[in-house]
Amino acid sequence: MLNLTYNYKLQPTAKQIEIIEHNLDVCRSVWNYALYIRKLWYNSRSCEINKCSLHSEYIVEPFEYPNYHFQSSELTLAKKTNPFLKSGNAQAMQQTLRKLDRAFNDMKSKGMGFPRYKKKMKSFNLISNKIELNGNYLKMPLLKNIKLRKSRDLPDGFKIKQVQIIKKASGYYANLMIALDVEVPTPIPHGHAIGIDVGIQSMLATSDGLTIARPKFLDKALRKIELLQRKLRNKTIGSKKWYRLQHRIALLHEAVANRRKDFHFKLAHQLCDQVGMIFVEDINFKSWSKGLFCKQSLDMGLGQFFEILEYVCSQTDTFFSKVDKDFTSQICPNCNTHTGKKELSVRVHKCDECGYEQDRDIAASEIIKNRGLEKIAVGAPVIKRTGAVLGSQSVAEVPSVVGTGAVSPMSDPFKKQPSDGVLAGAIA
Ligand SMILES: [Zn+2]
Repeated sequence: MLNLTYNYKLQPTAKQIEIIEHNLDVCRSVWNYALYIRKLWYNSRSCEINKCSLHSEYIVEPFEYPNYHFQSSELTLAKKTNPFLKSGNAQAMQQTLRKLDRAFNDMKSKGMGFPRYKKKMKSFNLISNKIELNGNYLKMPLLKNIKLRKSRDLPDGFKIKQVQIIKKASGYYANLMIALDVEVPTPIPHGHAIGIDVGIQSMLATSDGLTIARPKFLDKALRKIELLQRKLRNKTIGSKKWYRLQHRIALLHEAVANRRKDFHFKLAHQLCDQVGMIFVEDINFKSWSKGLFCKQSLDMGLGQFFEILEYVCSQTDTFFSKVDKDFTSQICPNCNTHTGKKELSVRVHKCDECGYEQDRDIAASEIIKNRGLEKIAVGAPVIKRTGAVLGSQSVAEVPSVVGTGAVSPMSDPFKKQPSDGVLAGAIA
């Protein structure tokens, strides 16, 4: 199954806007109530068995964990007596519960934050096989025929599975999730490989020697935003002028986000061009964005960029993999010697052992490439396939490791083995 998402700007009538706004409101209250019940369950269990907390205690009847199915059937029951819930779209509400369930799963599996109450709901989803695109109109349940700006045609053969209605500062949008019923092979390792190192000084460096300077999306708009925010301070909260200024600030932020996303897509396509494998570091950007360079790091949006890069790779038959991030800037890519920690101001990697000299970021990306090639070479089933598919250049890059399944000393930077020189020589 090949899945794509196409985004269109909607041109709803006043009546349709009313319906969208009402459903966003209903979904928001469903989200907040369902989250409240889940929080209650967590809090009722946070007390230790042998003692109570000094400040307060949750005393509720013990109840079953409110998972998606439980909350979904609760919602169906509540709709019978609550006219407000009944007025909303059933599908949109169920999908809101699913979204909440996913948020909790992400929290457990990916270490994301605890889901929060929402002041505003920004979107809702509808799943149906009755969604159609007729000319400039989107035919769908709930909103019937809604006009849109058809910026591009749907590709042939694709079916619309789901629509997400999104509210932004600049208006309403529809995300159409479309699918084509074909077998899509996952990209296998092949062709030319590159490693990508990301940083604060330059946004990224590749092992092919390409460096991209840190783009400053927010910096340019920040002056304007700050000016408006200063004006906002003098206005009465909730007044007409306050709302108007608030809206202008939101528009500026949206424009920045659009520019950033556009840049990410173009860069991802540029990197995937004529490349068979891309390796990146497995970085937790959450902790990055809390550090010293939080503003710069957030403005670059590296987390989003990696997601887009992975998506573009899957579309262009490029193998994408994450590798261990530790010590990438402390090891010599030429001889694997651990050269020690560098100050941020040291921009050049210079090896005392073998005399290898390279730009610091590019050296780190070479390490990432080496680790990636090592990773795919070690996995037994991949070896035969890569042996046949890999270009002569790439095979030369992982000579002694292919076929033997031996782990080279690179996987543990601190372990200096006597065989270091031998293997490193072979790799070089
Ligand atoms: Zn060296």
